[in-house]
Amino acid sequence: MLMMKERRPAIRTLRGWAISVLLEAGAIRECEEHGWMQDRADPHAHERAFDIARQDPPNGVSAEAAAVEIAEVLESIGDSCPECPPESIG
Ligand SMILES: [Zn+2]
Repeated sequence: MLMMKERRPAIRTLRGWAISVLLEAGAIRECEEHGWMQDRADPHAHERAFDIARQDPPNGVSAEAAAVEIAEVLESIGDSCPECPPESIG
């Protein structure tokens, strides 16, 4: 088959999509040193991420499912980098 289309199941990329939305909204940030995602604990940024998710969900994903994924990713991300020494926070 020469005409193979790349078909990625939505569920496999949904988390990556949610992380990119959260980064775009400024809800999370990536530790520059260790690459861990950190929740910036900014309620406005969270709201912004949910707005983006509902308005522009990935193909084949409902607005509601997209918002749920955002919530689940947020829940899974801590508010600090586990590898950064505590004194460097704040
Ligand atoms: Zn770190």
